[in-house]
Amino acid sequence: MKIHLKQIPAAGLHLEGEESCPIRELETEDVHCSGPLRYNLDVGLSEGALWANGSLAQPVELRCVSCLEKFPYEIQVPAFALHTELGGPEMVDLTPAMREDILLNLPAHPHCDRDGHQSCPGARPQAVTDDEKREEEAKREHDWEALDKLKLRR
Ligand SMILES: [Zn+2]
Repeated sequence: MKIHLKQIPAAGLHLEGEESCPIRELETEDVHCSGPLRYNLDVGLSEGALWANGSLAQPVELRCVSCLEKFPYEIQVPAFALHTELGGPEMVDLTPAMREDILLNLPAHPHCDRDGHQSCPGARPQAVTDDEKREEEAKREHDWEALDKLKLRR
């Protein structure tokens, strides 16, 4: 993300939008970009320096270290901040700083159940008792019932 210094008015500039995933060239088997980077930044100039403040969000697909399944995750950088002295060039590239902050916020040992939206099969106890199985089945039937009702309502 390159910014022309001439584009920044004295009062500063608010930038909000999307651009291509900055960690694409660093992708591995365990980390995939699944969408564009979203940014929400305030940029300004003061005393020969460029500053930027705001937040970043990068959707990715990670591999769970426990069950090895892939799962969607969003890397959040809630307090992205940059302050750089202005040298010669009239254009400043924010991408290296963004990439660095995104990588810093990438979980080192991702678990698919970390946000509580799903349960990790790899984290489950090995032996499932019959009672637990029955409970699971009952729950599943209940879910189907709810789904059927939903269909009927349509
Ligand atoms: Zn898992």
